[in-house]
Amino acid sequence: MLSNLAVRDVETLIHPYTNLDAHRSAGPLVLERGDGVHVYDTEGRPYIEGMAGLWCTALGYSNGELVEAAREQMAKLPFTHLFSGRSHDPAIELAEVLKELMPVPTSKIFFTSSGSEANDTQVKLAWYLNNALGRPKKKKIIGRQRGYHGVTIATASMTGLPANHTDWDLPLPGFLHVGCPHFYRFAEPGETEAAFSQRLADELEATILREGPETVAAFIAEPVMGAGGAIVPPEGYFAAIQAVLARYEVRFIADEVICGFGRLGTWFGSEALGMRPDTLSFAKALTSGYVPLGGVSVDEPLYEAMRAQSLKIGTFGHGTTYSGHPVACAVALKTIEIYKRERIVEGVAAKAPHFQARLSRLAEHPIVGEACGLGLIGGLEIVADKASRRQYEPKAGVAARCVAFAQAEGLIVRFLMGDRIAVCPPLIITADEIDALFDRLTRALDRTADWIRAEGLE
Ligand code: PMP
Repeated sequence: MLSNLAVRDVETLIHPYTNLDAHRSAGPLVLERGDGVHVYDTEGRPYIEGMAGLWCTALGYSNGELVEAAREQMAKLPFTHLFSGRSHDPAIELAEVLKELMPVPTSKIFFTSSGSEANDTQVKLAWYLNNALGRPKKKKIIGRQRGYHGVTIATASMTGLPANHTDWDLPLPGFLHVGCPHFYRFAEPGETEAAFSQRLADELEATILREGPETVAAFIAEPVMGAGGAIVPPEGYFAAIQAVLARYEVRFIADEVICGFGRLGTWFGSEALGMRPDTLSFAKALTSGYVPLGGVSVDEPLYEAMRAQSLKIGTFGHGTTYSGHPVACAVALKTIEIYKRERIVEGVAAKAPHFQARLSRLAEHPIVGEACGLGLIGGLEIVADKASRRQYEPKAGVAARCVAFAQAEGLIVRFLMGDRIAVCPPLIITADEIDALFDRLTRALDRTADWIRAEGLE
């Protein structure tokens, strides 16, 4: 029986990334409040938010300082914008702070309201840059299978997941995908991590050569793939990829929307994985998810090209109403101040070994094929046969069932394509809470194994 609120939900809301038919009978999980790493539903039941919302609430659910920063800015100047040269203190100060933090040469910051808008901006800037440089054919964008970069027409095109392409008439022409760097699932028998990485770099090079290097503008990658399965790339992967990109003057965009601001125990994922991108996209933990804000770093050569181009056209014709929203910038400034003061990033590095040790113990579970991660992010894969790595039929929905059991155990985690389950808790999680998280996840896996037996799944 659905509650009154649940019935009203079903009658009125379209939910992103939800089976809209199943939702009619299953109904929503309606959350009401949060405290630390916990959220509470309308019945008062607590859950460990093992996904930090959507990989974003780094400082948990009850940070009064962030609330106060938003309140103060709202009371002072709730809205102004950056169009036509107008400006405000929080945007200027935040851009300064971010410029300092960026692990790539950065001349300026351009603000957006989401990760999708940040990556969409990256596509447009790569095109704009090549027009300014007099290479109008150099426009193709290469992403990766299972990469996730957003849902706008361009970013869904860069994304490498079937749900974002099937029946959406995507990807657009000019958007290509190369292989997913998931060693466990896609390496050949006997292949080393280094050899697998080299094979993927060779595939990238062959793709660029087939298309013609003069037509390829940019390559985009997340340091650790998030929505595609919480996948850590194998040894040597980015070194091999970068060597190819450099040979053909292909711009390298790091999608730091999940990994940025401490997730891997470094300020940015690029630092943890030895990436040397030309530019970064960021969002999510920039404000700890409390208000929407994203952005991109702009290097000096790009800035000079943008300046020249806007001189020609008369304006830089890009930006949204909420680019650099003052309340969002104020919250971001406070978030970064807290990250620095509380040594949150160092804390992640200190907690990560315990988190990863508990995660990798799950690989011993009878239905788990792989369990690994980096920093405070991890993924596990449920398999039907550990030796052959055979998977259950997707329609059996085994990982979805496991996530439902986890919820019943008081833990929110997320299932992803290929019977994978992601864990990505708030960065403030304590050692005891990490233990509670994995105890609950273990019980959910036990219940899933019982269910598999009861259903007679092969
Ligand atoms: N890039 C990555 C790596 C993401 O994980 C996401 C969102 N999960 C996006 C981009 C898109 O961000 P948004 O949902 O804020 O548009």
